[in-house]
Amino acid sequence: MNKIAVVPGSFDPITNGHLDIVKRAADIFDEVYVVVMNNSMKNPLFNVDERMDLISQVTSGMPNVKVDSSSGLLIDYAKKRKADAIVRGLRAISDFEYEMQITSMNRFLDEHIETFFIMTKNQYSFLSSSIVKEVSRYGGDIHGLVPEVIETALKEKFNSK
Ligand code: ADP
Repeated sequence: MNKIAVVPGSFDPITNGHLDIVKRAADIFDEVYVVVMNNSMKNPLFNVDERMDLISQVTSGMPNVKVDSSSGLLIDYAKKRKADAIVRGLRAISDFEYEMQITSMNRFLDEHIETFFIMTKNQYSFLSSSIVKEVSRYGGDIHGLVPEVIETALKEKFNSK
């Protein structure tokens, strides 16, 4: 039977840290849905369609990865997809408490959907979408931290502002 995973996040924008988690999930699960969650972020730089489009471009070489969005509860989305697992990335201790809370709540809502954590590679442990945006906003070099299409998209965003 196909094993299905959901990789949720804001992805504003997707970084090489996220991408590494998606690739590793795609090596283990038969189908992976990268889902742009459209509920918690107040002032995103990229709208949902832009974020989905960027994710599609950078995952185009991964045939078992699909890109989607959701504005409801993650657990409802996971049920809709008949997912076996939710996959999250872990960077540091600072991620742990938040992830523990979310995981416990998701288990309360549906104990059949397991949450799996993949530890980030060392070189991405300091990397977040917000720090990438901050550095890019002031013209810093983020090469190697995000795919090239993301570098370009960030430059376009900040030049057009
Ligand atoms: P959220 O707003 O839910 O934290 P993000 O888009 O920031 O969503 O992150 C989505 C997932 O990717 C989370 O599990 C987060 O811990 C993980 N993640 C973010 N940055 C990295 C990174 N550099 N390395 C590994 N995982 C990461």
